[in-house]
Amino acid sequence: MDIFNLWKEISFKLSSVINSAAYTIWIQTLQPLCVKGEVLVLLTESNTSRQTIEKVYIKEIKKALNSLDTPLKEVQVIIEEEKHHFKEEIDKYQKKKLAPEEPIANGNSLNPSSKYTFDTFVVGESNKLAYNAALAVAKSPGAAGGFFSFNPLYIYGGVGLGKTHLIQAVWNYLRENNPKLKILYVPAERMTNDFVEALQNSNMQSKDAFNMVAFRNKYRNVDVLMIEDIQFLQNKAGSQDMFFHIFNDLYQQNKQIILSSDRPPKEIGTLEDRLVSRFEGGILVDVSKPDIETRIAIVRKKLLLENIIVPDDVIYYVAERFDSNVRELEGALSRILLYAQLCNLHTPTLESAKDALQSSSQSNRALDANDIITAVCSYLKISKTDIISKKKTKDVAQARHIAVYLIYNILSMPLSNIGQIFGGRDHTTIMNSRDQITSRLPNDRALEMQIKDIKGILNIK
Ligand code: ADP
Ligand code: MG
Repeated sequence: MDIFNLWKEISFKLSSVINSAAYTIWIQTLQPLCVKGEVLVLLTESNTSRQTIEKVYIKEIKKALNSLDTPLKEVQVIIEEEKHHFKEEIDKYQKKKLAPEEPIANGNSLNPSSKYTFDTFVVGESNKLAYNAALAVAKSPGAAGGFFSFNPLYIYGGVGLGKTHLIQAVWNYLRENNPKLKILYVPAERMTNDFVEALQNSNMQSKDAFNMVAFRNKYRNVDVLMIEDIQFLQNKAGSQDMFFHIFNDLYQQNKQIILSSDRPPKEIGTLEDRLVSRFEGGILVDVSKPDIETRIAIVRKKLLLENIIVPDDVIYYVAERFDSNVRELEGALSRILLYAQLCNLHTPTLESAKDALQSSSQSNRALDANDIITAVCSYLKISKTDIISKKKTKDVAQARHIAVYLIYNILSMPLSNIGQIFGGRDHTTIMNSRDQITSRLPNDRALEMQIKDIKGILNIK
C-alpha cells in the first residue's frame, strides 16, 4: 500500500474542513509512518501537538480515512520516542519511499518540506535582505573569515511572513548541493524538551538512553544547526545556558547556525546578554509585510506551481485584501479555489471569490458570551453544562479558563458579569482563570494555537 499517496488524499480532504492556519500547523506537519493491522500510524513533533490532534482533529482524520477506498480503519498518532514500537512496520513502509530522507542528524527530527525552496520564494522589498542572506549561507555555510560574518544567520519577523520557508529553503539547497553535511532542523521547543529529557535521564548509562551524552551528540555533532522560534527560550535560564555552550562549540568550529524568531534578540525578554551579543554578532535580517506587488507575485507563483489559471481581477482582489500574513493570503486563495470547485465553476470569478470570502466572515451580528462559550465547547469537545458547572476535572477547568479569558478579552466584560455567566462564581475566581491563561500563553504554543483556532471559529483575529 502506498501510504504516502493515501495520506495526500486524506490531507486534501482535511484541507477543506479544517481552517487553514490549523491545517498548516497540525495536519501538514504529520508524517505517514507505517500501517499496523488496520491502523494508519502517523508521526507528529511533540507530545503537546499529539494531545491537540487527538483531542481536536483525530475524528476528522478518521472520517477522511473512512471515506476513502482502503482497508484501513483507524488512525494512531505517535511521537519520535515511540517509533521503536513499530520498527518492523516502519522498515517495511519507509523503504518504499523514493527519496532517501535520512540526512537529518540521528534521523531524529521531522524533515522540512521539499516545497519550500528558493525557487518558490517570491522576493520583494520586504524580504530581499533575508532572502539574500539565506542564499549566501546556503552557498557557503559556516564560511569563516570574510568581512561580514554570516554566523549566526538570524531571521526575524511576524507570523506567516516566510521565515520557515527561507530556513527550509537553505535545508533543501544544502541537501541537493552538499548532501554530506549533517543538518539538524528543530523548533526551539523541541530542543528544550530534549534537554529536559536528557537531564532526567542523566544517570542512565545504557546506550539507548537519551541522556546528556546522547543530547550532546545530537546537537553538537552537526555541520548546520537550524533552530526555529528561538524566542521560546525566553524565561528559560537553564535552556539558555545549555544553548550558549552548544552555540560556542559549533561557532568555534565554523559550523553554521541559523535561527528564526518572531522578534529581534534584544526584544526577547530575559534573554541573557551574552546570548544577545552572540546573536547580534552574525547577520540579523527581518522579513516584514509584503507590499501589494509582492503579494500579487506570490499569488501568481502559487497558481503557477499548481498549474491553475485564475483571472487577474480575482488575483488583485485577494492580494489586496490580505496584506499582513502570507499564510492567510494562501488560505484565502485556497478557499476561493475550493468554493469555485464546489460551485462547479471552471475557474473562480470575482463574484464567486467575494462569496467565498464572505461566507467565511458572515453575520454582522455582534458576538456575545454565548457564542464564545459555544465555540470553546465545540472545539474542546466539552459540554456546555459542564463548562458552566462546578466540575473541576482538568479538561473542563481548562476549557473554562479559556472561555473566561476570551470573553474578558474579546468582549471586555466586567469580571463579576462573567462570574454570573459561569454559575455565580465570584470575580476573583474569574480573574484567576483569566490570569492563568494570560501567563501560560507566551510559553505554551499548543495553548496559543488552540486559542487561535477558537478565534478562527469565531472569525476574529
Ligand atoms: P513564518 O515561518 O514566518 O511564520 P512561513 O515561512 O511558514 O512563515 O510562511 C507562511 C506561508 O507563506 C508558507 O506557505 C510560505 O510558503 C508562504 N510565503 C511566505 N512568504 C513567501 C514568499 N515571499 N514567497 C512565497 N511564499 C511565501
Ligand atoms: Mg515558522
